[in-house]
Amino acid sequence: MAAKPHATPMDCQGYQAHAHNAAGERNFVQRSATSTTLITADAVTCAKVSIPGNRQAPAALLVEHDAQSRRILAVGTLADVQAHPATDSAARIDRPGCVLMPAHVNAHTHLDLTHIGTQPHDPGAGFTSWIGMVLANRLSDPAQIRASVAEGCRLLRKGGVGLVGDIAGVAGGQPSLEPWQSLAESGLAGVSYLEFFAIGTRTEASIERVATIVFSVDAFTRGSVRLGLQPHAPNTVAPEAYEAASVLARRFKLPLITHLAESPEESEFIAEGTGPQLELLQNLGIWNKLSTYKFGKGLSPVWHLERFIRSSGSSVVHVNECSDADLAILADARTRVVYCPRASAYFGAERHFGPHRYRDMLAAGLEVALGTDSVINLPSGVLDEAGLGLGTLDEARFLHARDGTDPDTLVRMITTHGSRVLGFDDDSVTLAEGATPIGILAIPASGEGSPAKWVMESKAAPEFLLGRN
Ligand SMILES: [Zn+2]
Repeated sequence: MAAKPHATPMDCQGYQAHAHNAAGERNFVQRSATSTTLITADAVTCAKVSIPGNRQAPAALLVEHDAQSRRILAVGTLADVQAHPATDSAARIDRPGCVLMPAHVNAHTHLDLTHIGTQPHDPGAGFTSWIGMVLANRLSDPAQIRASVAEGCRLLRKGGVGLVGDIAGVAGGQPSLEPWQSLAESGLAGVSYLEFFAIGTRTEASIERVATIVFSVDAFTRGSVRLGLQPHAPNTVAPEAYEAASVLARRFKLPLITHLAESPEESEFIAEGTGPQLELLQNLGIWNKLSTYKFGKGLSPVWHLERFIRSSGSSVVHVNECSDADLAILADARTRVVYCPRASAYFGAERHFGPHRYRDMLAAGLEVALGTDSVINLPSGVLDEAGLGLGTLDEARFLHARDGTDPDTLVRMITTHGSRVLGFDDDSVTLAEGATPIGILAIPASGEGSPAKWVMESKAAPEFLLGRN
């Protein structure tokens, strides 16, 4: 896939270019030293190459790197890679018993909820009560928000993630840029999606507020993190606010994403205009007569947002409810979907909607990426010493164990499918010759079949070798 123009913050050459001014004179920007490292392991796997080997005949990567960037000079068997002239002066890292992978993508999480930690949930209690718990624990103090995001970044790295789609949640009722700043300072790459709600009597003022914030931003990339927009969900954002988000995104080339078809409460509200979601809006005192005409038309959430989906290029998160007609809309619009398997299981989505249709989506040609959603809905073990934090490798292993999903497909779901959702090049998450990966991981794994299968059947945590660790 062709990269979007804004999507190349990892460009290796850019860093060097700053070392001279327009007249060709050296200025005071320090250029970091470039090094070359030869890494060996039992195998290499990514969306573009798969090189099985063993301790006697290792696979290898030759990487040129500085403090900011990495470029793959050669990949293959150790014998092949050693033919490259740069190996003579290369440093060496050996990881016998491991598989080398590019750093993974977590295409959907909420880092500003990290302070809440993992929480048990009874799906029978419903989604609306869970939302109440989150709202009660949301932070509004900027320093505390930044600290929560920073801890989330630590948990991402622990799980092998180098590229993230984070939702910058509403703080004290207002959209907040604090999570973007904190994520940019972490050194991770990705998109910080500014979240907003806009429904009922608040619709117009909310659109105005988010537009004011976006117009106030003078540069939409901080560090390696792009600003994006997330209208929260179709049961909390009116159709005209989705249109406004689409206009803003087009105007400033911002990536877009939205939660969609997540819960039975959302489905009931969209189709019937009734249920706990309506009660919540009434209790907040923001529901009005005009809004009643926008919902309750018997549509599914996907159908309800069809116009936005087709015209905006937005990615969508969850899609736990997906009829054949819904799937046809998404496939026709080539919409990218982020699936958060353990979050769907935590909320009991299968009980209401049946098994998630990610394999049907993939078969229909859709790119499905994996996300964790927030730490709240993950098993408590992810925070243990040996846990994978906010890693999507855990999500992929969960699908492999539960559904027997093809390991090479799962590798794409945690690498290239995720980078495409976020508007980054495939090169940022592959290890093919010439690629510029955000990070390189060594994952203890061995076994039969493809290296991807070894990784999915291992329980071991990844180690960052080079990159944003
Ligand atoms: Zn979410």
